[in-house]
Formats: sequence, structure tokens, C-alpha cells
Amino acid sequence: MYSFCQVLVFFLLYSFLVGLGIFFYLWRRREKEDTLVFARDKVVEFIDDAVIALDRQLRIVDVNPAAQNLLSSSGKSMVGVLVQEFLPASYDFGQLLADAENRQVEMDLTLAGGRQAIFDLRISKLRKPSREWVGILIVARDVSERVDMVDDRERMILDLEEAKTELTRWANFDFLTEIYSRRYFIEVAGKELVRSLRYRRPLSLIMMDVDHFKVVNDTFGHEAGDRVLFAVARAIKTDLRQIDIPARFGGEEFIVLLPESNREQARLTAEKIRSTIAELKFEDLNPGFRLTISLGVAGKSADDVSSLSDLLRLADTALYAAKKAGRNCVRS
Ligand code: GH3
Ligand code: MG
Ligand code: MG
Repeated sequence: MYSFCQVLVFFLLYSFLVGLGIFFYLWRRREKEDTLVFARDKVVEFIDDAVIALDRQLRIVDVNPAAQNLLSSSGKSMVGVLVQEFLPASYDFGQLLADAENRQVEMDLTLAGGRQAIFDLRISKLRKPSREWVGILIVARDVSERVDMVDDRERMILDLEEAKTELTRWANFDFLTEIYSRRYFIEVAGKELVRSLRYRRPLSLIMMDVDHFKVVNDTFGHEAGDRVLFAVARAIKTDLRQIDIPARFGGEEFIVLLPESNREQARLTAEKIRSTIAELKFEDLNPGFRLTISLGVAGKSADDVSSLSDLLRLADTALYAAKKAGRNCVRS
């Protein structure tokens, strides 16, 4: 059996060892906490983001060097100054946090050097361990480059869409004369013919060919010939209604589809076009120079036409007749 003294010594030794263990544990923990606080201070000191701590009255209580460099042009300490001196006064940070712990806003800022920048601001309540709200923490990051990149991308997408629309539009047009292309004409005329057959509506065609156009090229040159073709197309358009569809059918051949017009109405339009073109003046080529065209008209009546090629063939035959009759005239 152990004596009382032995038990006491053993107990004291045991207590001492336990106490020593607890002391070392607390000491290490304290050291670790100090290291953590120190490390956090260093992070805040070195990051590029601006960090600003405010009290509830929006007075700055602490800033990191990044905030100081970005916002204070004089280099004077920002501490103790109202934050509105550095950030847009229209933002009431207290109000922003009235019903939330954190908020994120994007803000246009004029920086100390005068540069305009876009900042992403994360704003949160600073609370004591007792949960009492004592201040506001702002972490601000310059996102100008990212925003610019997004803007550039959006602009590029818009430009591309515009170019696509323009291309689609131009795919239907003839570049030289800026009226519809043959491809588009065939597509639309086919649909119009189906509609006119189904609803028994009138529909006509005028086929045109510039007379002796080869002579124009030979006399004034190919480029002048191009300008003459452009002028002819514009003259044709002036005598048409909104619903008529003019197109360049080939080299110096033009065609017009006239929905809701019978052959006689189309013939009158053709006559107008013929005389408009015969009166065109080309002062820059030769003041005395006059141009003529021959025109063939075909109209769909109840049962002689069942396809677009039928109608085109009739118009072509009429045009050939006009050429044979001496040109500068209309045949139907
Ligand atoms: P006709 O009265 O019998 O129609 O005589 P023409 O000289 O008009 O007919 P032809 O078919 O002999 O010649 C057509 C000319 O049109 C030849 C060609 O070089 C010219 N041409 C066709 N396309 C273009 C073009 O886009 N630009 C220019 N400048 N000339 C063109
Ligand atoms: Mg021809
Ligand atoms: Mg010709």
C-alpha cells in the first residue's frame, strides 16, 4: 500500500504535468492566432483590390495601400474622412445594407490619376462577435478590362448580325443595277403565279432588252455601259407600282412582274417605260445620245398559262416580235 505522502506527491506531479500541457497548448494556439492575424493583414496589404473599412457614419476607419493609391490623389491619409469624398456621393452604403448582410454593385469611378474605371464593389456589414453592427467593409475590384471585353464582344456580335442582314438583303439584289436579281425574281414570281392561279387573279410580265447595247459599250466603254444599265434600271422603277417586282434578268435584259395587272394594263406600263427610257439623257457621255429598249408583254388569262416558264416564253416571244418590228416598241 502507498502512504499518504506518496499519493500526494504522485497527485501533485500529475497536476503539474497536466497544467504544463494546457499551458503549452494555449501558448501554441495564441501563437497560431497571432500568425493568422498577421497573415491576413499582409494579404490585405498586398492585394490589388481596394479594401476600405467604414464606421456606421460612413467615416473611413481603415484602408489598404491599394485603396489609398487608387482613390487619394494627394497621397494624404484617407482615414477619418467621409467615404463620399472618394466614392460617388449618390451611393448611400448604409441604405444599401439596410436589409442585407452583403451587396454587390458596379460603379463608374474617376480614379486619382483622372482615369475612368469600372469597379465591382462588394459591400458587407462589419459585426462584432456580439453581432452588433459597427461598420461597413468595402472591397473594390477594377473590372474595366472585363467590361470592355464584354462590350467589344457584344459590339462584334451586333456588327456580325448587321452584316448578315445586309448580306441576306444583297443576296436578293443585283449589285450593278440595285434592283432584284434573277434568282430572287424567279423565286417570287413562282409564288405569285401560284397565288394568281389559285385565286384567279390577273398577273403579267414585261420582258425588256436594251437596243443595240453592244454599240454603247463599243462607243463609250464598258464602264460607261455599266452606268447606262444602272440608269435604265432606275428609270424602269419610276414607272412601277409598289407591288410590281423589277429585276435584272441578264446582261442588258430586264423583267418586271405585275401582280393584279392584266395584259392590257401591263402593256400601258410597258409603253410608259419605253418612252421614259427613250427620253433619258446621258449628258456625261454625249448630250445627243439617246437609248431605246424593246419590250414584250405577256399576261396570264384563265387557262393558257400553267407555269412560270409558260409565261416567260410568251413574254420572250413578244420581245422577239418587238425587236423584229424595228425595236423601241412594245409587243404583246
Ligand atoms: P439588240 O438590240 O439585238 O439587243 O442588240 P444588243 O447589242 O443589245 O445585243 P447583244 O446581245 O448583241 O449585245 C448585248 C451586249 O450587252 C453585249 C454585252 O457585252 C453587253 N453586256 C452584257 N452585260 C453587260 C454588263 O453588265 N455591262 C456592260 N457594260 N455591258 C454588258
Ligand atoms: Mg440581249
Ligand atoms: Mg440588247
